[in-house]
Amino acid sequence: MTKKVVIVEDNELNLRLFRDLLEAHGAQVTTVRDARDALPAMQAERPDLVIMDIQLPHISGVELIRMMRVDPALEKTPVMAVTAYAGKGDESRVREAGADAYVSKPISVARFVEAVEALAGSLGEGGRRSS
Ligand code: MN
Repeated sequence: MTKKVVIVEDNELNLRLFRDLLEAHGAQVTTVRDARDALPAMQAERPDLVIMDIQLPHISGVELIRMMRVDPALEKTPVMAVTAYAGKGDESRVREAGADAYVSKPISVARFVEAVEALAGSLGEGGRRSS
């Protein structure tokens, strides 16, 4: 079954990289560039996985994850956080907010896909199999 993924990312290059990788593996991707649109988009899509940038204008990724975790529609949705800052305190703050996985930027393509499939399983019938 095709997996639905929502990407929340304000950096256009990262957004395209993540989208292209996920689509190449068969996922159905929705992109969100403005953090203020993220919750409504996730509530509408009910994705199988969310890729969440942490450094976002207006609402941080940590805050968005906290908001998801108190929303009955989104509390169990797997979240993979991506962030440029990979300090130890940062990772525990992101995990405490409710992220299921944490990948630091610049991402390794192999590590990214591995982490995504560990959370969501195979992304779609049309995509390359990675087993
Ligand atoms: Mn950002």
